[in-house]
Amino acid sequence: MNPDISDSVRAIAAGELTQIAACFVASGYVVTQPASGILLVNTPDAAPSRARLLLSVGVHGDETAPIEMLAHILHELAAQPHSLRVNLMVVIGNLAAIRQSKRFIDVDMNRLFREERGVLQSGVEAQRADELMRAASTFFSDADAENWHLDLHTAIRPSHYPTFAVILANIAAPRRNVLAGWLGQAGIGALIISPPSAGTFSGFTATRYGAASATVELGQVGALGSNDLSRFGAAQQAIDGFLRSGHVPAGIERPHVFTVAQELIKRSDAFRMAFDASTKNFTPMEPGTVIAEDGDTVYRVGPATEYVVFPNPDVRVGLRAGLMVVRQA
Ligand SMILES: [Zn+2]
Repeated sequence: MNPDISDSVRAIAAGELTQIAACFVASGYVVTQPASGILLVNTPDAAPSRARLLLSVGVHGDETAPIEMLAHILHELAAQPHSLRVNLMVVIGNLAAIRQSKRFIDVDMNRLFREERGVLQSGVEAQRADELMRAASTFFSDADAENWHLDLHTAIRPSHYPTFAVILANIAAPRRNVLAGWLGQAGIGALIISPPSAGTFSGFTATRYGAASATVELGQVGALGSNDLSRFGAAQQAIDGFLRSGHVPAGIERPHVFTVAQELIKRSDAFRMAFDASTKNFTPMEPGTVIAEDGDTVYRVGPATEYVVFPNPDVRVGLRAGLMVVRQA
């Protein structure tokens, strides 16, 4: 770990939120910590109808840039009384993996936010996912307010779009529109509309609580303290603006929209992709090109150009090894 980063960032990254919680309390905020790495912040006079925003980071333990960015946002906000205009929940996701600078310990936690987990049920991530699902359920289920969830990540590999987001197709069109506006404001270049099957944290909150939820990929994985946060300036400002205003201005810039043409499911250990792990996200592939082979199953590009996202042949059998998306007209 880089010795130059501040103690507060280091503490938040480790899921130790006691110190930042105390700062919020000292500024007059109402704070609770329902479990380790989870913090709820609101103002004492808040109306129950106030928008609820869940900000989660570190669902993949090696994706440290969003944790650092969030730490800076929280640090400034906590020092300023009366500045928060949303009901805020902060989640530091996979604490065990963060401590070991790993993506995960046993299984990818961002496949576990669903009831049916099959073989993925064993392992430390399943327990933590249960804890996060319970906390999110409590946060989102009481009173009638707008629910928001931004799950912040950094991608494993380079991308033709340095920043992009994934949302579920089941988010109602008006909410999706507002969400796209916020993403545009945050400098997010591409938006993938995905079918609801992957078991992601943002998928869970969208499906269960009608939240405007997005998995947001903010550049590439870096070590804690060595992330160039200037590249995340637009996203940091957009999050900060939301926290302090409680609403999302209509964005002028909108991300390019993609829909999922096919999911590449690894059905056996024979699964082979036609390209290697260095392939950039959103690399275009021409119609008819072989994408992957898995025993007798051959995955090919359909009638339109498809772009490959999240190619990862090393996932467990039964899981998604990549997505093929097409540009929406
Ligand atoms: Zn991630």
